[in-house]
Amino acid sequence: MKAKKLILLLPLVCLIGCYSGSIKPLLSRPEFKAENEPIRTLRVLLIADDAYRKDEIEEFVSKCSRLVEMQVGIRLEIVDGYEIKWEDELDDIIKMEMRIATDTWSKRDQFDIALTFVYFVHNIAGGKLPLGATDTFFWRYLFVRELDPYILLHELFHAFLLEKSHSNDWVMRGARPPYGNEWYWLTPEDRKEILRNKWRDFNVMPATGKEENRKSRESWFYYKMGSVYLQKREFDQAISLFNKSLETNPEYPEAYLSRGRGYYFRGEYDKSWKDIKMAQDLGYKIPAEFLDDLRRASDANN
Ligand SMILES: [Zn+2]
Repeated sequence: MKAKKLILLLPLVCLIGCYSGSIKPLLSRPEFKAENEPIRTLRVLLIADDAYRKDEIEEFVSKCSRLVEMQVGIRLEIVDGYEIKWEDELDDIIKMEMRIATDTWSKRDQFDIALTFVYFVHNIAGGKLPLGATDTFFWRYLFVRELDPYILLHELFHAFLLEKSHSNDWVMRGARPPYGNEWYWLTPEDRKEILRNKWRDFNVMPATGKEENRKSRESWFYYKMGSVYLQKREFDQAISLFNKSLETNPEYPEAYLSRGRGYYFRGEYDKSWKDIKMAQDLGYKIPAEFLDDLRRASDANN
């Protein structure tokens, strides 16, 4: 008789044990809801190629919105969307991030997060984009491969948990739960952390880790973005991004060289020389070809 009772109890114990790490059983408590107030509405920019149906994406986002709001009082609101035609970015997640960041840079105040659907991606090198990804600079450029709430919730929560590594529980686990299992729920600790970062500014890189580390990453991001604009021959944007890069980290010779190139193309040779000298002083070897071009152009100008 005792043994029978024990057997009956076992599944119950496991069920309670499994739920104890998750906030799911707490959702309906009034104090839990009160802690989520006030609600923050995240403005979402949707980016997809023509492989997705607009209504499917919208339905997916609204389902995710309900799940996020229940847990941390954050609502997702689609404010804009555009159809993307990918070029050669598809094999490199950093290139994809740069593409999205540069495409949307001038509109960056109009949205909080950019959500990009990349279902068609089949050759992401080295398994860098297994299910989804988030840029680790601004934590605002999100990529998901499938319309599975687990994936978007996971990436979105990264954007608030910042540099926290994966846990073994629920939605912040590093691997996908078995199909059919709803692992959408945060742990109480993760939820607290997200509530702490709930009102963060997505246009500013959050201060995480060591200060120098953050600065060099921020500088690198602007430098890379400026390089994309330089390639597109949009010199004003390129120069303003190199300025930002150098403001953040003035010890960065590549950014001087690149800004020098930008000035060269704008016909501002004195400024170009100044940057080239800076890069040289920092020990950078300037390509001879560019030095020749600059010399010829500035001589002709004088
Ligand atoms: Zn992750």
